[in-house]
Amino acid sequence: MAEQRLFDNLTLPASFDAHVHLRQSHLMRAVTPTITSGGVDTVYVMPNLMPPIDTVEAALNYKAQLQAICPDVTFLMTLYLCDKITPEVVRDAKARGGVVGVKSYPAGVTTNSAAGVVDYAPFYPVFAEMERQGLVLNLHGEVPSDRSNDVNVLNAEEKFLPTLALLSERFPNLKIVLEHCTTRKAVEAVMEAGENVRGTITAHHLWLVVDDWAGDGLHFCKPVAKTEGDKRALVKATVEGKGNFFLGTDSAPHLLGKKKGVGLDKCSAGVFTQPYATQVVLEAWEEGVRTGLVEKEELAEEVIEGFLGKWGRDFYGIEESKKKFRLKAGQERVAESLAVEAEGDVIVPFRRGEQTYSIEWV
Ligand SMILES: [Zn+2]
Repeated sequence: MAEQRLFDNLTLPASFDAHVHLRQSHLMRAVTPTITSGGVDTVYVMPNLMPPIDTVEAALNYKAQLQAICPDVTFLMTLYLCDKITPEVVRDAKARGGVVGVKSYPAGVTTNSAAGVVDYAPFYPVFAEMERQGLVLNLHGEVPSDRSNDVNVLNAEEKFLPTLALLSERFPNLKIVLEHCTTRKAVEAVMEAGENVRGTITAHHLWLVVDDWAGDGLHFCKPVAKTEGDKRALVKATVEGKGNFFLGTDSAPHLLGKKKGVGLDKCSAGVFTQPYATQVVLEAWEEGVRTGLVEKEELAEEVIEGFLGKWGRDFYGIEESKKKFRLKAGQERVAESLAVEAEGDVIVPFRRGEQTYSIEWV
């Protein structure tokens, strides 16, 4: 059956992906060049490397490595919140430019986050300085799993939401982003929080529910995808969120061996959407229209361009892009895999083999 393609021939300004993992070494060299094929020209790069990016020097070195691979992409950098991040470091980051925020990982919740934080009180002087300097606080909004208190991957985000409210009230001028919202309750919390709070929504959480990752490592990510009701709330938030939500794909590539498990290793968390970042969102909206969740009229130019770029750029205070691309609804399909030859393995993109829009930069 021929499917209705809503965005054929549409020209859009370059997207801003406000949450990406570009990794290191061979993975970095394989993944970074795929940013532009996803219609993106500006990315906010997460700091959970080995070792974590916890100095301004390390962030700027990493930025230079990425810039050498893709001179046409703008890389915004962040620091990994830990005890090395002090008010002095915040001032230094602002003075030197390039670093626009600080990322907090709850300890042990996500990849490479063993040094993350749980109790924020020791960081209040850092947050106060970030508030003064205009740096953004990016929250991985989950509390660590804890069996004795019935905290698990399904309720870890919801249990974090009081902390979001507390931080936003205590620091009303600190720009805060609740990263990768996955629940209706998270959407509501962002809507109810102060003007200083926004939420990012990934491309894959507009598609996935709990059954998709239970048993399929390729769809396993943190925070895990929740219920159909949660997924619908996320899709609605992208179009009805009044600018409070913008795209942050949390594209998180892992070699297939790490996803499907080699030997007795556990499956790594992360879904890889980078090469089709914009397309996966547009196709989720099409699916929303097809299923009656979204009205076609809701997908106004202002909403499409807002979620994919403008609202995020405005919040981070970065200029609108002058680059544009045109969408073509041809016969292109999502690649089955991306080779990482030096590792003798591949990375598998989300929605592999599915029909997708082609992007032509104009
Ligand atoms: Zn992430």
